[in-house]
Amino acid sequence: MTEKMTEKDNGGMLHMKGISASPGVAIGRVFVLDRRNRRIFKTYIAEHEVESEVQRLRAAVQKAGEQIQAMLRSMQDELREHIAILETHQLMLKDSMILDKSIDMIQRKMVNAEWALDHSLNHVRRLFGHIQDTYIRERIHDVEDVVARIQDILSGTQGIPMEQHTNPVVVVAHDLSPADTIQLNRKNVLAFVTEMGSRTSHTAIIARSLGIPAVVAVAGVTKYVFTGEDIVVDGITGDIFIRPDEDIIAHYTDKQACYIQHRQAMLLQSHLPAVTADGFSVSVQANIELADELDVAIASGAEGVGLLRTEFLYVGRNDLPSEDELFQAYFECVKRMSPKPVTIRTLDVGGDKFLSSLPVSPQTNPALGLRAIRLCLKEIDLFFTQLRAIYRVSAFGKLRILFPLISGCSEIQQIKVHLNSVKEQLRAEGIPFDEDVKLGVMIEVPTAVMMADLLAKEVDFFSIGTNDLIQYSMAIDRVNEHVAHLYDPLHPGILRMIHRSVEAGRLQGIQVGMCGEMAGEPAYTPIMVGMGLDEISMNADSIPKVKHIIRRCNAGLCRELVNRLLTACTSQEAREILEDFLSRYLPDERQLTHPYLCDAARH
Ligand code: PEP
Ligand code: MG
Repeated sequence: MTEKMTEKDNGGMLHMKGISASPGVAIGRVFVLDRRNRRIFKTYIAEHEVESEVQRLRAAVQKAGEQIQAMLRSMQDELREHIAILETHQLMLKDSMILDKSIDMIQRKMVNAEWALDHSLNHVRRLFGHIQDTYIRERIHDVEDVVARIQDILSGTQGIPMEQHTNPVVVVAHDLSPADTIQLNRKNVLAFVTEMGSRTSHTAIIARSLGIPAVVAVAGVTKYVFTGEDIVVDGITGDIFIRPDEDIIAHYTDKQACYIQHRQAMLLQSHLPAVTADGFSVSVQANIELADELDVAIASGAEGVGLLRTEFLYVGRNDLPSEDELFQAYFECVKRMSPKPVTIRTLDVGGDKFLSSLPVSPQTNPALGLRAIRLCLKEIDLFFTQLRAIYRVSAFGKLRILFPLISGCSEIQQIKVHLNSVKEQLRAEGIPFDEDVKLGVMIEVPTAVMMADLLAKEVDFFSIGTNDLIQYSMAIDRVNEHVAHLYDPLHPGILRMIHRSVEAGRLQGIQVGMCGEMAGEPAYTPIMVGMGLDEISMNADSIPKVKHIIRRCNAGLCRELVNRLLTACTSQEAREILEDFLSRYLPDERQLTHPYLCDAARH
């Protein structure tokens, strides 16, 4: 969680900084939504009241179900991809850990329903606290949300009192559940600011879907601001200004106008190919986790899916997905993206994503442990199921297979043995598949860079995973906030590794792409062009911006930039070289490129 706060002496203006979760600029009045003030009182009931108290609880649960159902029915089109969140809430209403346990508590301890619910929630919190899988552990917020809804119904304090506001407001809250975010009248919301959350929390994802600026992880913000006060929110940089002075308002009014204008212009052009002024073309593709994200990716101008992370079909459940389930999911992506290509990466769990269905004994350094391809080569059945599903889908569209965490040639040789068995099985069963599916490896382990010339002879393409390449080569745990500031894509060692990998691919005549977060940073786009990457894959939001920058670039000048960068001794020197290039050749694109340069640790 990052917080930087400077109180200025000009009339109490307060500048705070959080994490930018959804881009855009908002200037308006605050509405503080703080649900932590809900207080639950314990009251004892008489024996003859027990049955009616249980009925009261059951009725509240039923009403909560009806409310969720109504929300599902009225869901706006742009939010349909979040239906799953509300459907999960509906299932939770029936969960024995909440309902049955609370009823049991009312009957045994003779307490009121609100208190019984609170007790059950604390019990579930304790259970979730021991869960290793971060994704499942974080589902506690959904449980809390469901319980809060029932408690609101029981106590008669329902809904978010936003309807009272006819004028749009900036919602400032300790935390906003995904359901809160959906429920808020979006016409009345200019921006969200929360104390909790991360860029990948559901609330941030929904804010991005709605196109509402959001800043999260602003520690203590609800303590410093009151409903009705003025606020400026910069969702691009994560800055917020409470009680802004005239200069700040003037500055951000300009920035807002610029941002809106830029965004509209870029979206209008997002379907144009990404070709530089001197004719060098780069395929700009999307990184996605779920088929739900495809519509946004396509609307943003994605020319394919460069990285389909397949972990999300496996995590957050107690069983493994079947071959048919995987087939359906991959088929959906390939069909919707057709005729554009989809690159399916095989399962990459064990580093920071874990499977409840496949418990692995605790490892001291999971990132250096049984992760990704190592796990798949050990759990052959799991690997076979996924490979069979992928090959079956290959009969229906253009797909490629990408293998993660490859450290040298022996893994790819082992993989090929398994691929041959999978193909033999499918042939024997008369199941059609594409005999010529292209195979690629992630370049994300330093030894893969050193072996890139030989790896290039084994596969059809490379995809450089800078998130892990930086982690492993600079010895920086990518999930450890204490070393996050050291994480630096402009480290000359990293730039040289990227260059070396691209050159190795080029000499062998194979395609080289990048799918790490570095690929989606507009400030680094000239480096991607200058390195000669054939494709870059990124979050959908970055696609129009990066395509726009590519169209403004001259590939010859970008190659000169890379040559200069390869002489840099330090990250600082590399940053200055890039800064100089951007201000010289892309001065009008500063709004896109500058925030990233200012914050080296952002990734
Ligand atoms: C990477 O490591 O850069 C990458 C794209 O993969 P992931 O972030 O899923 O590890
Ligand atoms: Mg990786």
